[in-house]
Amino acid sequence: MKVLSVASECAPLVKTGGLADVVGALPAALAQQGVQMRTLLPGYPAVMAALVEAEPLLDFDDLFGGPAKVLASRIAGLDLLVIDAPHLYARPGNPYLGPDGRDWPDNPERFAALSWVGAHIAAKGAGGWQPQVLHGHDWQAGFATEYLRQMKAGHVRSVLTIHNIAFNGPADPGRLHSLRLDPGRFHSEGYEFWGAISALKAGLMGADALTTVSPSYAEELMTPEFGMGLEGVMRHRRASLHGILNGIDEDAWNPATDPAITPYSNPAGKAAAKSALQAEMGLPQAEGPLCVIVSRMTHQKGLDLVLETLPTLLEQGGQLALLGSGDPDLERAFRAAGEGNPNVAVRIGYDEGFSHRLIAGGDAILVPSRFEPCGLTQLYGLRYGTVPVVALTGGLADTVINASPAALARNVATGIQFAPVTAGALRNALVRLGTLYKDRETWSRLQTNAMAQPVGWALSAKAYAELYAGLTAS
Ligand code: ADP
Repeated sequence: MKVLSVASECAPLVKTGGLADVVGALPAALAQQGVQMRTLLPGYPAVMAALVEAEPLLDFDDLFGGPAKVLASRIAGLDLLVIDAPHLYARPGNPYLGPDGRDWPDNPERFAALSWVGAHIAAKGAGGWQPQVLHGHDWQAGFATEYLRQMKAGHVRSVLTIHNIAFNGPADPGRLHSLRLDPGRFHSEGYEFWGAISALKAGLMGADALTTVSPSYAEELMTPEFGMGLEGVMRHRRASLHGILNGIDEDAWNPATDPAITPYSNPAGKAAAKSALQAEMGLPQAEGPLCVIVSRMTHQKGLDLVLETLPTLLEQGGQLALLGSGDPDLERAFRAAGEGNPNVAVRIGYDEGFSHRLIAGGDAILVPSRFEPCGLTQLYGLRYGTVPVVALTGGLADTVINASPAALARNVATGIQFAPVTAGALRNALVRLGTLYKDRETWSRLQTNAMAQPVGWALSAKAYAELYAGLTAS
């Protein structure tokens, strides 16, 4: 089985969130299922700089406003196809944002180009390699199905994975021509969404199969609360929608071998990581649990609720260590909380190595998201025996077993869940956390269960492989 993955991010080369982790991890996981996956990426400076022995495969005179090439290269175990198109991608920093922190105005065209090249390769092959399935990720790959249709590539099957439906890739209808779209499909069965063009809608309507990154989020997408206006489309495509949980890279996130920490393989071994983290962050020893957060700072992630409930955590003798960046108001508020309290330590920024030390050193990891398609940091927490305290939503609901009296009695609990996603419910969860943490035996069992929970790709890779097989068999 040959599959072309089409994505705007791929770890370890370019990452703004969980999408990159998934795109980077899938090929190796799928190789074990007999799937050969190549990943098509825009040639951002970080990607171009990493290329080794790049082999030119395709040439385009005019790819959405300038010449372009497709280069093949193997980097970090990934079989990459890179679009070398300086007019679209030779821009520093974040893949989506200009220096003013706003979306690049030509983002619709930049990612339409990604989708177009993806469709071209799927339709005609590249260097003799012919995929059977085009697997796109999020709105950035949404138009691929439109272009496949234009290229009359009926032999290619398509899958679109929704990592976050909140981003639908809108564009003004005046851009139909520059986006190379068929005007005849600007209607509700095509890519039209509330009078605008939507790249995500195009993919949601056009792909043979849709997947999203947890079974609960798949259900939630069909509701007005989570569907972001696309709930009707999701209900319409219900029969083709699959919830397949994300896994994590179990080599990169392994407490027994992690070079960022003093390695450990049982809860008792966490003590060194905790002291090291407290020392690094200038936190004193404390009676209660050290809670950690690694997160984008946006409304979605519910961090305002953490600020609101901080007094409760501190009353339990607890501590907070946070790494994140994003919304300037949230950054400011957390900085102020850190300056005003010796038991709160805040680092604003993005730092992969530090995220490992935080997750290893914490007793608990807080993920109070208002919605969470899958979530990865709670999975890292499980693997590191850092008990997740999570909102009961999306993938957080699917990956944590709440420490209810029944789950504790059966010794299956792995964390704490709270609902609804309000300060009141989080406050109660923090009190439960304080109580459980004091009961050393129960706490240690929670940690042991967490560390034993499978969080890798094995099951999910099998599910994707079966999906591809089902699509190509029909
Ligand atoms: P999302 O994709 O919505 O941001 P996920 O939990 O799926 O949320 O994935 C977030 C990924 O980004 C995780 O790998 C997490 O460790 C990482 N991450 C988020 N913020 C930071 C940060 N400030 N520094 C380092 N890694 C971060």
